[in-house]
Amino acid sequence: MENKFLVQAVRGMNDVLPANIAGWERLERVTRELFAAYGFEEMRLPIVEHTSLFKRAIGEFTDIVEKEMYTFTDTGGDSLTLRPEATAGVVRAAITNGMLRGARLKLWTSGPMFRHERPQKGRYRQFHQIDVESIGFPGPDIDAELIAMTARLWKQLGITRVKLKINSLGTSEARRAYREILVAYFRQHQAVLDADSLRRLEGNPLRILDSKNPDMQAVISGAPLLTDHLDPESRDHFDTLCAMLAAAGIEYVVDPRLVRGLDYYSRTVFEWVTDALGAQDAICSGGRYDGLITQLGGEATPAIGFAMGVERVVELLSQVEEEPEPPSADVYVVTAGERAQRAALGIVEGLRDAMPDVTLHVNLGGGNLKKQFARADKSGALLALVLGDGELERGVAALKPLRHEAGQSECALEDLADRIPALLVELAGSPEEL
Ligand code: ATP
Ligand code: MG
Repeated sequence: MENKFLVQAVRGMNDVLPANIAGWERLERVTRELFAAYGFEEMRLPIVEHTSLFKRAIGEFTDIVEKEMYTFTDTGGDSLTLRPEATAGVVRAAITNGMLRGARLKLWTSGPMFRHERPQKGRYRQFHQIDVESIGFPGPDIDAELIAMTARLWKQLGITRVKLKINSLGTSEARRAYREILVAYFRQHQAVLDADSLRRLEGNPLRILDSKNPDMQAVISGAPLLTDHLDPESRDHFDTLCAMLAAAGIEYVVDPRLVRGLDYYSRTVFEWVTDALGAQDAICSGGRYDGLITQLGGEATPAIGFAMGVERVVELLSQVEEEPEPPSADVYVVTAGERAQRAALGIVEGLRDAMPDVTLHVNLGGGNLKKQFARADKSGALLALVLGDGELERGVAALKPLRHEAGQSECALEDLADRIPALLVELAGSPEEL
C-alpha cells in the first residue's frame, strides 16, 4: 500500500549503500595515489558558486547552462548555482586565491555535481566527478602526460574495455574562421535542422556537431571538418601530441567530430569511451582551455584538465571485480548479566587501545545468549569474548572460538590484550572444524 508519509529521494539522486561502497573506495584510493605520483595536489571547493561563473565559463549556448543548472536565489538575493562541473570552480579558486602569477599548478578535486538531465542508467541529476587540472602548462607534453595518467588508471583498476578518442579544436581565431564555413554549410541544409540546431546556428554553430538527435546525424556527418581548418600552431601541437601518445604505446583514434559539451575548450580534446555501459559511454572527458582563465578575469594562462564520471567508472569496476566480502569482525563481545553489560564498554574501549589492529564488534541491544551467539556467528568473528557477571567478579572473562570445535577458556581481564591477538593468529592458521 502506498504510504503518503514516505518521503522519497529526489529523482536522479542516488544513495550509495554499504554493499556498493567498495568500488567507490577503491577508485578513490587508487586515484589519490596515482595523482600524487604524477605530482598533483588535492583541493576542496564549494558546491555552490555564483551563477555568472558557470554562464561565463561553460557558455550560454550549452545544454548545461540553457537547461540543466540547479539555480536558485538565496535569501540575500544572490543568484547561486549548484556546480554542474568542477573546472570553473577550480579556475575561480586559482584566481581568487592568487595562485596563478605564472605558477604551474597540478590540481585535483572531486565531489558531487548537479545537472537537471533526464535520469537514466549512467546519467543522474546528482553525480560525482574526479577532476584533474593542469594550469600554466602550454603542452602538448602535459596533454600527453594527462592522457597517459588516465591510461595507467584503467590499467591499475583492471578496466580494459575502453577506447581513447582525441581531436583538436584549434585556437579560438581558427575556430572563428571555421565557424563561418560551418554556418554556410548548415544554412544550405537549414530545412533538416531541428529546433535546437536552428537556435545554435546563430549562437554557437559548433554545438550542432555535438547534437545527440539521431535525425541530425546525417547532416552532421556531411559537415566540413574543423581538423581541416586548423591553424598551423594547433596542427603542430596536435601532431606532437599524437606522436607522444604513439611513443608511449597509448592507442587512440582521432575523432574529427569530437567537440565536447562545454564551450571553453581549445586545441586538445579527448574522451575515454567504453562499450560496456550501454548508451552512456563516456567515462572520462577533458581538454585544453587556454582562453578560459582570461575569460574569468585571470591573467592569460594555458591549462588543460579532465573529469571522470565516478558512477560510470564504479559500474565498470563492478563488472571486473569479485563482490567484496561482507565486513567481518575478529572478536564479537557477548555479555551475560546486567553488571557485565554496563562494564562491557569500558573493557572493550581499553582493548581497542591495547590492540588497535583487532576488530571488535560489541553486542548491542541486549538479547539472550542464544541470540547474541547467533549475531556473533553472523558477524564473521573467529572468537567470542564472553563477559559474565560471575566471571567479572573473579576478574576473568571467557574466550570461545566460534568456527572451531576447541572449547571455551578463561582469561584474566588484564591478560586479554595479549591473549586475544595470539589466539586469533592460532585460529586463523588452523582449518575450521565446524
Ligand atoms: P555526456 O556526453 O555523457 O553527457 P558530458 O560531455 O556532458 O558527458 P562532461 O561534462 O565532460 O561530460 O563530464 C565528464 C564526465 O562526467 C563524463 O565523461 C561522464 O562520465 C560524467 N557525467 C557527465 N554527466 C553525467 C551525468 N548526468 N550523470 C553521470 N555522469 C555524468
Ligand atoms: Mg552531457
